[in-house]
Amino acid sequence: MRLVGKVALGAVIAGWSLGAAPARQVDLIIRGGTVYTGSDAPFLGDVAISGERVRAVGPNLPFTARRVIDAKGMVVAPGFIDPHTHIGEQLASRDAATRLIPAFLMQGVTTAFIGNDGGGDLDVAKVLVSARTKPVGINYAAFVGFGPIREQVIGKADRAPDAAELQRMRALVAGAMCQGVLGFSTGLYYAPQSFASTAEVVALAREAGRRGGTYDSHIRDESSYSVGLSAAIDEAIAIGRDAGIPVNISHIKALGVDVHGQAPAIIAKVEAARRTGQRVTADQYPWSASGTTLTAALMPGWALDGGRAALLKRFRNSAIAGRLRAGVQENLRKRGGAAALLIAEGKFGGRTLEQVAKARREDPVTAAIALVRAEDAAVVSFNQDERDIAAFMRQPWVMTSSDAFTGHPRVYGSFARKYRKYVSAQGVLSLREFIERSSALTADTFGIEARGRLKPGAYADVVLFDPNRYAERASYDQPTLLAEGVSMVVVNGVLAVDGGRLTGQAAGRALKHRPTPGSCP
Ligand SMILES: [Zn+2]
Repeated sequence: MRLVGKVALGAVIAGWSLGAAPARQVDLIIRGGTVYTGSDAPFLGDVAISGERVRAVGPNLPFTARRVIDAKGMVVAPGFIDPHTHIGEQLASRDAATRLIPAFLMQGVTTAFIGNDGGGDLDVAKVLVSARTKPVGINYAAFVGFGPIREQVIGKADRAPDAAELQRMRALVAGAMCQGVLGFSTGLYYAPQSFASTAEVVALAREAGRRGGTYDSHIRDESSYSVGLSAAIDEAIAIGRDAGIPVNISHIKALGVDVHGQAPAIIAKVEAARRTGQRVTADQYPWSASGTTLTAALMPGWALDGGRAALLKRFRNSAIAGRLRAGVQENLRKRGGAAALLIAEGKFGGRTLEQVAKARREDPVTAAIALVRAEDAAVVSFNQDERDIAAFMRQPWVMTSSDAFTGHPRVYGSFARKYRKYVSAQGVLSLREFIERSSALTADTFGIEARGRLKPGAYADVVLFDPNRYAERASYDQPTLLAEGVSMVVVNGVLAVDGGRLTGQAAGRALKHRPTPGSCP
């Protein structure tokens, strides 16, 4: 009785003292947009935000707000999550403006993962506290990478670990998981990770699996360099199965003329594994050119044993010059020739290897070796077939990623381009599919709690974009132009983009993955 009386009294007071105003006040309300929650059919409605959280989502919400945003004609969606980037250095930069990650915010990306491809910093505890003293514009989560682990324990040599070394590497993975990383990442294509056997990777991945992590892999071969694309996909799936861990195939692609057209066969392999109950997913960036370094693109694997110093030494060894040149020649062929390699930085930035070779009056192999000797420049490598790209993109287990890496327009344009080119222009995906595979699917796959969906109680990471204008401006010629069409971005309840401009607010956080209960000391 008393309770009923209280409720009634409250209602009376609200009605009496505030007149016609609704009883509930929030900080921010986004009104009248087409709302995609990340998992439901779109509807015309509102998103109400209180503090750092979403308070309510629905049509005609009965709230007043300190700030009301008119979203008529706009798409309202969960902030996008990018599961594969290389922006760790920017997030830890001394420069506060760099740490905002404008290239991502202006596309509506509010969370990014770092430490992919087996890279990143081995000191994950430091990485995951950095945002407290150096505020960041977006949220981030990290993998622990195989590269620094193997380098710390074994160095750069091409050999297997002994039992004690394997034990030390396992302990490093386990320790990182307990610090809150998402899982264990590898780049088995890259030396010295390429020197590891499947069994070695399984032993380490098992430590992450036991603690609820994901195995995220740039597979051993996306082309026809060593084992071949098909066998590399088999290996990734086998690692997941044998280590008892979900597998995510990084930036899935069929790279190079030898494997064009293989997407349907690769998709069939992943589907078969998924039918057995195994968790296998992939992410993809929407560009036909990949980005890497001149060394990784062209130098034969055997020449990289021992790292760059050893490679430079081999250049001076005339006894192996013929073999080295043949290896570079073959890798050039696989990647579509010297005209399909665009140098992205340094003295020759903006020119193709073919153009550089002509200017130097050299053949492309000689020019490539000379360039690698001078510096290991980033390159953009045009090597994918649009039919493969579309086939992968259609799969419900393929997420949007950028693989953000200097010199490639994918840093500034991946999400916007996927929408503009593959949703709006070509209809490869629906808008709803694009949004879900850029938010909720990614959060679910990697265990990002309370993000990726617009629902009551979730963290308020929100993007508002104009479906007629959302597009990338970055191109291979001008890779650092910000995207257009995003009018508002909210990160943890704070406006990071307002009226199409950065507010300068750094509201991002380091997100710690919670290891399986009882799996850590
Ligand atoms: Zn990669």
